[in-house]
Amino acid sequence: MTALVIAEHDHATVKPATLNTVTAALACGGDVHVLVAGANAAEAGKAAAQIVGVAKVIVADSPSLAENLAENVAAQVLALQGSGAANYSHILFPSTANGKNVAPRVAAKLDVAQISDITLVVSPDTFERPIYAGNAIATVQSTDATKVITVRTTGFDAAASTGGSATVETAEGVADSGKSSFVGREVTKSDRPELTAAKIIVSGGRALGSAEKFTEVMTPLADKLNAGLGASRAAVDAGYAPNDWQVGQTGKIVAPQLYIACGISGAIQHLAGMKDSKVIVAINKDEEAPIFSVADYGLVADLFTAMPELVASLD
Ligand SMILES: Cc1cc2nc3c(=O)[nH]c(=O)nc-3n(C[C@H](O)[C@H](O)[C@H](O)COP(=O)(O)OP(=O)(O)OC[C@H]3O[C@@H](n4cnc5c(N)ncnc54)[C@H](O)[C@@H]3O)c2cc1C
Repeated sequence: MTALVIAEHDHATVKPATLNTVTAALACGGDVHVLVAGANAAEAGKAAAQIVGVAKVIVADSPSLAENLAENVAAQVLALQGSGAANYSHILFPSTANGKNVAPRVAAKLDVAQISDITLVVSPDTFERPIYAGNAIATVQSTDATKVITVRTTGFDAAASTGGSATVETAEGVADSGKSSFVGREVTKSDRPELTAAKIIVSGGRALGSAEKFTEVMTPLADKLNAGLGASRAAVDAGYAPNDWQVGQTGKIVAPQLYIACGISGAIQHLAGMKDSKVIVAINKDEEAPIFSVADYGLVADLFTAMPELVASLD
């Protein structure tokens, strides 16, 4: 029994989501291989070989894999599975935008059911996954020969990124599928930690009232704590914060060490994205706000007074 993890990477380094996915793969019980599908991705391959628990890294290098086009990455995974050399029992993707783009294509081509967003491996064929925005946990068993899985990274600890000594092999990169082509990418440049990897997140809601106030009130605390900035959907929809800051069921799922929610009511769709945070602090002027039901520390206060005081107290 061997599991294949599809690495999330930028061709030079391996992204943290890969580490949690390796832990899930190890829990499936067999050997763990990692596929680095990229272009000039030898450095990412070397980094993947350092991950503790990984037996083998396969680097597939091809210009067709330079931009992570889902059609080409899926074809690469299928080429490995079809080669018969490994015959993977499990193929695991992190539940990231990339992983969720590629996994269904692989599952469909293999004619198996995808098992989405697992948070626990009960046994090699049985998994837990949240449903109804995390309000219920389903235990699902799959009898498919190959389990194609996406992994909710917050459900698994990160494997150690150094100390491993996997062998590194190369595989022939697939040709371009011709089904899609790369047009362009706009990357937000930020010195802040990426939301899904941040240890501390300061998150703001509709109560901030405007984009200017959001920046004025939230940024000083985020700067002090070297935190990522998050937002509720109401704040994003109102244009107070960019779309990629949204935390929740239809945003990002996060589980930092500390999540500070300011002026966020705590709707179930928001809680679905952050309630696994280790310590939750809520600031809300309504003592009945549902966010207090998940908060470890709650402050009933006007955030426009409390936030500057909090920042000042950290000087
Ligand atoms: C299918 C679906 C998916 C969704 N996905 C998401 C998602 O991914 N993420 C998400 O966040 N939401 C999501 N939502 C929306 C969600 O239901 C809520 O509408 C949203 O989370 C509310 O955002 P909020 O808490 O900022 O605003 P509100 O609910 O309006 O809450 C504002 C809070 O601020 C408090 N407040 C006001 N003024 C102050 C002040 N001066 N000081 C302190 N506190 C103050 C109020 O007491 C209130 O509790 C989804 C909804 C649906 C239907």
